[in-house]
Amino acid sequence: MQASIKVLGGGGEVGRTSVLVRAAGRREAVLLDAGINFDEEDNPIYAATYPPKHVKAIVLSHAHLDHIGTAPLYFISGNPVVYATRPTIQMAKLMLEDFLKLNGPQSLYEHEEVERLLEMSVPVDYGDRVAVDDTYELEFYSAGHIPGSMITVVNVDGLRVAFTGDINTIETVLMEPAQLDKVGRVDVLVMEATYGNALHPPREASEKRLISIIEETVEQGGTVLVPAFSVARGQEIMMVLAKYDVGVPVAVDGMIRQVTEIFLENQKYIRNPHLLAKAYNEFTIVRGWQDRHRVWRRPGVIIASAGMLKGGPSLYYLKKLGGDPRNAVVLVSFQAPGSPGRKLLEEGLMPETGEPLRARLEWLDFSSHADRNGLHKVVEALRPSKVIIVHSDVDVALAFAEEVRARHGFVDDVVVAENNSEYLVSTP
Ligand SMILES: [Zn+2]
Ligand SMILES: [Zn+2]
Repeated sequence: MQASIKVLGGGGEVGRTSVLVRAAGRREAVLLDAGINFDEEDNPIYAATYPPKHVKAIVLSHAHLDHIGTAPLYFISGNPVVYATRPTIQMAKLMLEDFLKLNGPQSLYEHEEVERLLEMSVPVDYGDRVAVDDTYELEFYSAGHIPGSMITVVNVDGLRVAFTGDINTIETVLMEPAQLDKVGRVDVLVMEATYGNALHPPREASEKRLISIIEETVEQGGTVLVPAFSVARGQEIMMVLAKYDVGVPVAVDGMIRQVTEIFLENQKYIRNPHLLAKAYNEFTIVRGWQDRHRVWRRPGVIIASAGMLKGGPSLYYLKKLGGDPRNAVVLVSFQAPGSPGRKLLEEGLMPETGEPLRARLEWLDFSSHADRNGLHKVVEALRPSKVIIVHSDVDVALAFAEEVRARHGFVDDVVVAENNSEYLVSTP
C-alpha cells in the first residue's frame, strides 16, 4: 500500500504551503493548502501547481494567505471542491479580496476565480469525515492556531496521512489547544515547524507585560499603539485587554473589525466568546477618518492592522504617535525580515519618513505557532513512522528533524521537505 506526497510549496520556507496527496497509480489527488509567499519587494510568489482537472478536493487548513493565496489558480481551468470550516471560508473571502486589491495587476487570478472558489466551498467541522472520489477519506480536527484552523487526516489505501497546517498546543485567551488526543495514531505526519528551534515565554507573562506597558504609558499621558495582524492576533489583544479590565480608552482599527465580526458569528471556534463580545461592545471601533483623527489624541490604547506596519491604519498612527517619547509602540506579531516592523526594531527608524522613533518600542511574543516543545508533543501524540517537515526555514527544520530522530524511537524516517519533491510512503 503506497501513496505519494508531493510538496508544491512550503519546503524549507515559512510560507506558500501546499501539499498534494495521491494514491499510488492514480492521477486524481487531494490538495492540502495552496498558499502564497512574498519576496523582499512584496511581490507574490505562488506555490507550484498540479493539473487542476486532477485535483478532486482542496482542503484549506485556515485562512492565512500563506495557506490559501494560490488556491484560486485552480479555478481558472478546474473545479475542485473546497473543504474548510465556516470561519475559514468567510475569512478567505476577506483575505483574497484584500490580496487582489493590493496586488491586482500582478495577480495571476482575478475576482472571478475567487468567487468560483467560494462557490465550490463546502463547510466542514471538527470530527467530520468526508469521502473524496472513492479513494480518499478526510477527517478534520482543531489545530489550535487560529479560529477555524484544522488538522486534516487523509485516509488513502490503508494509510493515515496527517497534515497539521499551522498548529498550536497551548491554551490562549482566544484558542483552545489543538485536539491532538482526538486524531489518534497516523502513519505519516506532514508538520509545520516554524519555531522548531525556539521556546515561547508563558503566554500570561506576555499578557502581563503588555498590561504594565499600557499602565505606565497612560499614567504619563501617552498612547500605546499595538500594530496587530487582522486575523486572530488583533482579537487576542482585544480579549487580553478585556480580561484584565485595563480601564483606559481602547480603539480598534482596520480589518481587525471585520474579522472580529466573523469570530462573533462563529463563537464555538473561540475559547472565550464572551470576552471578545465584551471587547467589541466596549471599545471604540474606528469606522472612518473622523474617528481616526480623534482616537490618537487621547491617552489610551489603539489596536490597528497591519501587524508588520506594512500600510494600513497602524502606519498612520505610528506617524502621529512615534515622535513623542511619552507614547509606546508594542509589536505583538511576527516581523518578517525586511518588513517595516523589523526595520523599526533593528534600526529605530520610522517607515516612509525615516525619522527616528522617539516613542518607547517593545516586542512581545504572542505567537500562534507551537514552539519546539509543542511540536514534540504533536509527534508524541500522533506517533507517526514518517515525518515530513514543511513551513520552516531549512536550518530550523534540520535541527528539529535531528531532535525528532533522537527523541522519538517510533519514528523511522524524518525528512526536511524540498519544494517539488515527491515522497513515497507505504505501510510498514
Ligand atoms: Zn497561519
Ligand atoms: Zn502559515
